[in-house]
Amino acid sequence: MSGYKCAAEMMARRQEAEAGRGWREALRAIFSIDRRSPELVMSQYVALTQQIPTLYLVLGINVVMLSFTHMRSTPWWLNLALPLPLLGVGLSRCHRWMRWRGVAVELEVAIARLKSVVVLVGVLGAGFTAWALALLPYGDAYAQCHVEFFMAVTVVTTCFSLMQLRAAALLLVAIMFVPFGVVFLTSPHPAMVAIAINMLLVACAMVLALLRFYGDFAALIVSEHELIARQQETQRLSDENFRLANIDVLTSLPNRRRFFAELEATLDLAARESQRFAVALIDLDRFKTVNDMHGHAAGDRLLTQVGLRLKRLSGEGLFVARLGGDEFGVILTTCHSQAPLQEFSAKVKQALSGPCVVGDRLATISCSIGVAVFPQAGATSEELFERADYALYHGKQAHKGELVVFSDEHEVRIRRAAQIEQAIRTADFEAEMWVAFQPIVDVRHSRVLAFEALARWDSRELGPVGPDVFVPLAERTRMIGQLSEVLLAKALAAARHWPVSVGLCFNLSAQNLSAADTMSVVHRLVRQSGLAPSRIEFEVTETALLEDFEVAVRAIDELRAMGVRVALDDFGTGFSSLGYVHRLKLDKIKIDKSFITDVERSAQAAAIIKTIVALCRNLNLDCVVEGVETEMQMQIISGLGCHHMQGYFVSRPVPGDGVTRLIERITANAEALREGVAL
Ligand code: C2E
Ligand code: CA
Ligand code: CA
Repeated sequence: MSGYKCAAEMMARRQEAEAGRGWREALRAIFSIDRRSPELVMSQYVALTQQIPTLYLVLGINVVMLSFTHMRSTPWWLNLALPLPLLGVGLSRCHRWMRWRGVAVELEVAIARLKSVVVLVGVLGAGFTAWALALLPYGDAYAQCHVEFFMAVTVVTTCFSLMQLRAAALLLVAIMFVPFGVVFLTSPHPAMVAIAINMLLVACAMVLALLRFYGDFAALIVSEHELIARQQETQRLSDENFRLANIDVLTSLPNRRRFFAELEATLDLAARESQRFAVALIDLDRFKTVNDMHGHAAGDRLLTQVGLRLKRLSGEGLFVARLGGDEFGVILTTCHSQAPLQEFSAKVKQALSGPCVVGDRLATISCSIGVAVFPQAGATSEELFERADYALYHGKQAHKGELVVFSDEHEVRIRRAAQIEQAIRTADFEAEMWVAFQPIVDVRHSRVLAFEALARWDSRELGPVGPDVFVPLAERTRMIGQLSEVLLAKALAAARHWPVSVGLCFNLSAQNLSAADTMSVVHRLVRQSGLAPSRIEFEVTETALLEDFEVAVRAIDELRAMGVRVALDDFGTGFSSLGYVHRLKLDKIKIDKSFITDVERSAQAAAIIKTIVALCRNLNLDCVVEGVETEMQMQIISGLGCHHMQGYFVSRPVPGDGVTRLIERITANAEALREGVAL
């Protein structure tokens, strides 16, 4: 045999073997229970628990009837002794399957029971077929027809009852119809042969219907399962969405939205049951500095640590959420008096007292707390939140690191602020605003170096309002740009009449620095005034720098590019590091008056002033001490090496028309200065 032929034969044999294997596998698939699809197995099992009892009952009745019609013609052992054990098995299975109805089972148990059905169908099917065929020779034509009818009805009933278990149904058709077909088709009676042919056709139709039904049933179960799985996934995603929509990702605390939902719910309940509760807002002190100096990643890390600590406080009567930034909100439902609030404040402080990782070092964190109590502080959630925020804001200014409860006094202040806000919105800046001037002098030479322009407002409705009140208000109402323009124009107009050696200092707020048009307005006004830019100095507070350091740096560069000077005001209050100063192109530093107040008593205050003076000397910056009120302060500060001063000791701010006389008096008499002119 040639090699080619040999290979072809081997190939043919392999194909045959594969075809054989394919058939075997297909048959195995049809007759086995598919454990890869547990939901299909469970559905088959549940369907059978409903159908099998009926099947056995029908089968039992059919057997009894067949036995009855053969009672006389057939020997007792064949008529009774043979079917009885089979019937006994069938009835006991019927009883079991009835008990299993509606009882949940494991997958493995269901598989085992379905397998037992296939086996029993084989055994009982074969038994009853053998019995029925054994009866044939004994009966007359009617009895033989009954046997045929019994076989047909039993197959149809069983087949329909076992439709969900394809293996069992097909097995039964095969077991009952094959011998049946052989016996009847070979019968000498044409009627029997015809019936057999009819029955076989019915069997074929039934098998086809069964296969189609089973395919549809399996597909339905799978698609139903997929649908359920998809529904569950949709539900899971919607639950997850809900969770994420209500949680702060950084700290895992409830977020602002959840806080307000909780606040509404608490308010409803408290209003219905006439109970007190408190809204507390916690704000970390100096968090902005951490962000600015160590970066946002360090800030986030700190917030995570704080969030974790505050989370541990949550519990009975205490709901903690992160509202955003470094602000946390708390709802306290157990606050029947002031004591629980103080206790809560102590708990928060205790929680935050351990050092936190900030950048590459450890630092202690403090916080301020503002509280509003229902119903005293407000009747709606917005009111309560606003009041707590007000208490927090004012607490931060006057009592940093403390708990401040919104009080009646705060209420009065809010009303007054609302009045002032209304008044400033309708004010005629040109007519109502004016500028006072306070001298900055060189005490060694009794020489006036400059005047600081200080805003004054004589409101038509409210009378005089201090700049401490209206400047922040103008910032909040975004009117500061317009206000500064009017004031600078007035200050420049006044300075035109001063000696050329005397400069003008003007305060710019944080918002001035960040506003897009400030520089062009300043440029225009300075040019129109005709004053040499070198005589003009803009004061920028340290807190303004902290608002947005990069913006401030750019603004300062632009100002200096115009030829005007820039001073850092209130130095020492904004917690900025000396590294900051180094990065800014400044001309002067003004040491905040809070250091001067203490200088007579505190060696530390004196040491700080001395350090700043040395710093200025090293960085080649001018240095002014503001807020000098007494001769003693003046002498101490002079002794520390700083001779440029501003303060009530030299002069309080005076109206523009008092400036010339003031300059004359200061320069005329050095002695008089030491005694305090114009006090
Ligand atoms: P500031 O820039 O630190 O101005 C100095 C403040 O200290 C002035 O208060 C001045 O009257 C006061 N002062 C001066 N010497 C003494 C002293 O010896 N003892 C005490 N206790 N105080 C002294 P004033 O005029 O009430 O201004 C308060 C603040 O309002 C200013 O603080 C400044 O931040 C702001 N401000 C005033 N005018 C303007 C302005 O035109 N624009 C902006 N943006 N802010 C202004
Ligand atoms: Ca100032
Ligand atoms: Ca100042």
